[in-house]
Amino acid sequence: MFNLDSLVRPNIRGMKPYSSARDEFQGEAQVMLDANENSLGSAGPDQFNRYPDPLQRAVKQELAQLKAVRPEQIFLGNGSDEAIDLLVRLTCVPGHDSLLILPPTYGMYEVAANLNDVRVERLQLKPDFQLSSEIVAGVLASDAKIVWLCSPNNPTGNLLHAEYMEEILRGFRGLVVVDEAYADFAAAPSWTTRLAEFPNLVVLQTFSKAWGLAGLRLGMAFASPEIIGYLNKIKPPYNVSEATQQHALAALRDAPRFEELRRQLLVSRDWLRERLPALPIVTEVFPSDANFLLVRFHPDATAVYDFLVARGIIVRNRTTQPGCAGTLRLTVGTPAENEQLLRALREFAG
Ligand code: PMP
Repeated sequence: MFNLDSLVRPNIRGMKPYSSARDEFQGEAQVMLDANENSLGSAGPDQFNRYPDPLQRAVKQELAQLKAVRPEQIFLGNGSDEAIDLLVRLTCVPGHDSLLILPPTYGMYEVAANLNDVRVERLQLKPDFQLSSEIVAGVLASDAKIVWLCSPNNPTGNLLHAEYMEEILRGFRGLVVVDEAYADFAAAPSWTTRLAEFPNLVVLQTFSKAWGLAGLRLGMAFASPEIIGYLNKIKPPYNVSEATQQHALAALRDAPRFEELRRQLLVSRDWLRERLPALPIVTEVFPSDANFLLVRFHPDATAVYDFLVARGIIVRNRTTQPGCAGTLRLTVGTPAENEQLLRALREFAG
């Protein structure tokens, strides 16, 4: 059975979190001389002389409506990369515990493990980058503290089959982190709709992709209030800047722009997906529910990569990733960039 408290590192369970005088202050502050800020004002064009709301209440209020969850089910971090790191630190005792990844997948799970001296267990996805009953059995047999399910998966682009994910959510004793960084491009409901069913579920999303706000650094984790409470307890007090909070609020109130960005990207993804297979150097374009395409090249993907770099076009070389021999990951760009990419690939193909 899943038991959150026994999953959390013993030193964190009883730990006293950082607290500021403002956390404890009841009532309307008139004069704020508690936090060693600069009361006179800010250098630069905008006023940021006060520390931001440590719990980002205004942003969460807006997000809760959009995602149909309660504010206390939301954690906000400095990118979802911060949530990844905090989840590892929350549960894994350095030098003792392990986490489980399903390669090929997003690289930061392993980096966060290495940084925190946490062992990495691996179960490779099938050649079509899907789960199987054997993989599920392997996950359920593991005593890792966290299993990472990236869906849509980076760098492969596919959604993982929901039935297998459910089996993992039902049977795994640790946290099941479903990384939905690319969910806004996917033709499937978010796992945030299933939070009430699974106390071990953590869903990660980000403002870096469909929202077009990678430079802001704002990531989201959705989970039970108990899990979110622990993340808030261990996060740096002011992990999301005032500028980020203000900008995120403005973005959240501009739903039409978000929808338009998403629509245009999906059109461009289809445009690129239709044209790539006609190239004689392309042997496979993998199905994508994300804003990128994993493409297999023949005979030499790295030669293609080098050719593109020489023309000032960078893509991601994934040839050394498990199951990804011969592949490059192509982010969908503007229509002009996509045409430029295609022209360069045609030129290479000769
Ligand atoms: N998860 C996945 C699957 C990603 O691909 C990325 C970004 N490449 C992230 C998380 C991190 O996103 P953020 O910018 O929110 O830190």
